[in-house]
Amino acid sequence: MTKKVLITGGAGFIGSHLARRLLADGLEVTVMDNLFTGTKANIYALLDNPRFTFILHDVTQPFWGQFDEIYNLACPASPIHYQRNPVETIKTSFLGMMNVLELALKTKAKVFYTSTSEIYGDPEIHPQPESYWGNVNTIGMRSCYDEGKRAAETLCADYLREYHVDVRMIRIFNTYGPNMHPQDGRVISNFIMQALNNRDITLYGDGSQTRSFQFVDDLIRAMQAFMNLEQSTITAFYHSKQMNMPVLNIGNPDEYTIKELAEETLRQIPESTSQLVYMPLPKDDPKRRKPDITLAGELLNWSPRIPLREGLAKAIAYFSGNNKENFENSR
Ligand code: NAD
Ligand code: UDP
Repeated sequence: MTKKVLITGGAGFIGSHLARRLLADGLEVTVMDNLFTGTKANIYALLDNPRFTFILHDVTQPFWGQFDEIYNLACPASPIHYQRNPVETIKTSFLGMMNVLELALKTKAKVFYTSTSEIYGDPEIHPQPESYWGNVNTIGMRSCYDEGKRAAETLCADYLREYHVDVRMIRIFNTYGPNMHPQDGRVISNFIMQALNNRDITLYGDGSQTRSFQFVDDLIRAMQAFMNLEQSTITAFYHSKQMNMPVLNIGNPDEYTIKELAEETLRQIPESTSQLVYMPLPKDDPKRRKPDITLAGELLNWSPRIPLREGLAKAIAYFSGNNKENFENSR
């Protein structure tokens, strides 16, 4: 029997890559999305596939369907978008997760949750291991996202503990690549679009804050490897680590300052006349971020393969190609 998979948020950046990969592997894929930040342009190429279905639906509203696996990705991920409607953001994380877990409980589906490095907040421990509890402001501008994601992790943990729903969670560190929206607002798409259009490169603060950037293909490979493990293998692994919840950091530990990222972007677009300009640092912007990926290496035999220089070149090729127009016309 062909495996049936639901991807909430599947018209977004990461979800569209996952949908394409799972279809290529022969699975039946349903994408559910309300197109808040996603776009149909990301899934146009999939619509003709008889194993693909798109449902326009908001995950905060209950839904029904029989699936073997549910990947819950629905949630705006860029600070400018999740702060656009903060109440909706926290509702999407919490109620969306609740609806997914209720469906999984009734239908015995496996659940995969895409949490975030933001649950560590502005971390006091560096790099961040899964055992770190984080340093998060509950009432700041980023809290609708950070606390929503933390609450969704809590729901996953409690549905696993109480009702034995088969849940896996990953904490994704800054990921980039094709299918990001040009107006997404995150740093890599901003810098590339600014450089391609000879606009100022907007460095927030002095550009000394760091991030660790992962190319999307590395993430999708880890997601599939984790979802495909038997629950008994996962349970035994976490038990051996004296941890009781299946959660993994997935990211590329190569750490760069934001200024270094701007300089590398300009190096790769030498014809650009853009200049670096400095703008105020948004409140609660984490100063450093880098994943400890020891657990993912041991459990999945996984490590990222695509360095920033190579991934950035692929992203630049994408944004400067004809897809750019599709995206811009699709909003
Ligand atoms: P994205 O904004 O491109 O995709 C999110 C998708 O969710 C969009 O298609 C959007 O329309 C959809 N969505 C939002 N609210 C919804 C709702 N109420 N109902 C249905 N659909 C809804 O962002 P992305 O980078 O692809 O992120 C996907 C997931 O991965 C998110 O949950 C995000 O928190 C997580 N994540 C991403 C990163 C990253 O660096 N890209 C890092 C950490 C975590
Ligand atoms: N940033 C920047 N210029 C931009 C967009 C972002 O300097 O045009 C900075 C931002 O302040 C943060 C880092 O780049 O320190 C990463 O921002 P992004 O929004 O991509 O992700 P997050 O803050 O959620 O890690």
